[in-house]
Amino acid sequence: MPQQRNYLDTPLRYLPTLGEKRATLLESELGLRTYRDLIYYFPFRYVDRTVITPIRELRNIHREVQLKGYLTDYRQEGVGRKQRLKATFKDATGQVELVWFKGSDWLKKRYPEGKCYVLLGQPRLYNGIYSVSHPELTPADSPDLAVGALYGVYNTTEKMKRARLTPSVLGKIIASLLHLIPTYVEETLPSEICAQQHLIPLPDALQQIHVPRSTKELQAAIHRLKFDELFYLQLMLLQTKLERHKRFEGYRFEHVGFTFNSLYDSLPFSLTQAQKRVIREIRLDCNAGHQMNRLLQGDVGSGKTLVAAFSMLLAIDNGYQSCLMAPTEILAAQHYATLSRLLSPIGVEVALLTGSSTPKERRPILEGSADGTLPILVGTHALIEEGVRFAHLGLAVIDEQHRFGVAQRAKLWGKATDVLPHILIMSATPIPRTLAMTLYGDLDISTIDELPPGRKPIVTKHLYEDGISLAYDFIRDRIAEGRQVYVVFPMIEGSEASDYANLETGYKRFVYMFGERNVTWVHGKLPPKDKQERMDAFARNEVPILLSTTVIEVGVDVPNATVMMIENADRFGLSQLHQLRGRVGRGDNQSYCILVTPQALSYTAKRRMEVMTSTTDGFVIAEEDMKLRGAGDIEGTRQSGDLSKLSLAKPTEDVLLMRLAGAVASDVLAADPEAKNPLYAPMWQELERLYPREERWGNIS
Ligand code: ADP
Ligand code: MG
Repeated sequence: MPQQRNYLDTPLRYLPTLGEKRATLLESELGLRTYRDLIYYFPFRYVDRTVITPIRELRNIHREVQLKGYLTDYRQEGVGRKQRLKATFKDATGQVELVWFKGSDWLKKRYPEGKCYVLLGQPRLYNGIYSVSHPELTPADSPDLAVGALYGVYNTTEKMKRARLTPSVLGKIIASLLHLIPTYVEETLPSEICAQQHLIPLPDALQQIHVPRSTKELQAAIHRLKFDELFYLQLMLLQTKLERHKRFEGYRFEHVGFTFNSLYDSLPFSLTQAQKRVIREIRLDCNAGHQMNRLLQGDVGSGKTLVAAFSMLLAIDNGYQSCLMAPTEILAAQHYATLSRLLSPIGVEVALLTGSSTPKERRPILEGSADGTLPILVGTHALIEEGVRFAHLGLAVIDEQHRFGVAQRAKLWGKATDVLPHILIMSATPIPRTLAMTLYGDLDISTIDELPPGRKPIVTKHLYEDGISLAYDFIRDRIAEGRQVYVVFPMIEGSEASDYANLETGYKRFVYMFGERNVTWVHGKLPPKDKQERMDAFARNEVPILLSTTVIEVGVDVPNATVMMIENADRFGLSQLHQLRGRVGRGDNQSYCILVTPQALSYTAKRRMEVMTSTTDGFVIAEEDMKLRGAGDIEGTRQSGDLSKLSLAKPTEDVLLMRLAGAVASDVLAADPEAKNPLYAPMWQELERLYPREERWGNIS
């Protein structure tokens, strides 16, 4: 349905008070394009206009304040580029100096000497004198001052400030648009929702967030606008999911058959309850008639790979092929080894295709996948490159990092039919449930929330560098017992060379401590073949110590390795540390993680070490990670795309409101699944305006 054009969609360059140049700047710096964008650009904080600070009390105040006093004594100082206009500002308790680096005559005219003003600005102490540069001055008798008790301060960039688009100028431009609100902004939510959720009307909220008359008004406005952000995001995700189910037909995996049962019977252990539940969820979803799009999440070591294996066998038992795609060659090789070990005894063939497969290795694989005789193909990105065709691909298991590229290109694998393979995305990083809902609401989610029995929690210790000899002694003892050790060095941002140097220095140190034949290393720069050889040698326990950058981050499975030592652990994020630690603790022996850091640590780095030493629960760690870093930065979560439309709401903090908004969105969708109820029309239009259908579906249909 075509969107009715609204006056608020007018481009900013038509705003007379702004001008073309500054309009361009607003777009390039802040992404603001239309009148509406400016109205939706909210203050990032507020100054209380009822508070006037006496100049005498300026000491120890390091933010914007309001002063009230008389302006006197304009004077020019300096010459040429160093020229400044100065003035004195006095109240009954003292005086400050005012400085302007630009403009002189018009200022003097606009703010005549001898008058009383209210000044807004940040005083700074220079040579014992408080000075305020480019203050905002309002005549003390101006009606503007009575507008609101709280005065919004808007974020601007340096570049904007240089073009005289200061926070206060921007504030004035925005204020000049607010009169459009009553005429052009309409309520978008159905009135029953507003009533139930105690939401103030949208036009009021937009007005009040810019010019609140009280803290209470401001809070009501923020609540309303946050609700909108979270509600529409979740409505979009849920609607996308619903429509996908309707839109994309799926193969039906009706039977649980021979290969599935054979693997089940051949396992030396029984599946955890969580694994069973998740396999059941997948099985039902793959037989519901629509294409599955499911996220499989669980802590490291919770047995996701096994669940993926069962899912693939389900496809095979129903006459379909499946594939598994990993982000790196090492990981692909690892998955290939695991799956071959599990599946060759039951007679299911698995092949591996990566960028370094030779043409000779490639040919039979490509033939087998194209004619349908190869049941399972594991690989890297090579799987979606030209040349790979499947006769009847029923399921693609994908490592999360690939999800976008692959979900979109799933059709490449299809034949000329409309039916896409089922997709199972394995997430290496657990995501707290509340966040998963917001980030992945368009996917179905299966969570393995239980570890196989008998796992001994990994003992984790934090050491400062000056105590590192303790770690060497400890490692020597473990090696004497026959165990093996990983040592990980951080990647150095943006420079493969220094990253390498870091590892190289570490290697020399370890060779010095343990002897050359006891230490091996891998690094991204190493040719894949050499890398594989060294990893294999380690896996066969021919070398006890493996040094690496984060290449072993995910996937490597050497049960005899029981020590994970992480150097410069402060350089890693929490979820990375957790993933790394998950490389040990896979066998029967007690495992250990040693975090080594310099003495001087930032608050957050220290906190990360505390979290790591106090828990091994990935969900708790993800939660803490979220608190420390904010949701947008969480590793393994979806890129900022969908979160970028949240300007007030924070999924990490507004958990309750998020849940509430999600529940309301889900009710609305259940009540009006076809988006046909006329009472909801403004709401559906708003959804379309915020998340245009074309953008949502453009990539996949
Ligand atoms: P994830 O991929 O979730 O990190 P994996 O699938 O690699 O975990 O499993 C970790 C280890 O646990 C593997 O060695 C696997 O064989 C084993 N495992 C998986 N499920 C079970 C189970 N139910 N009982 C015992 N061991 C299990
Ligand atoms: Mg695994």
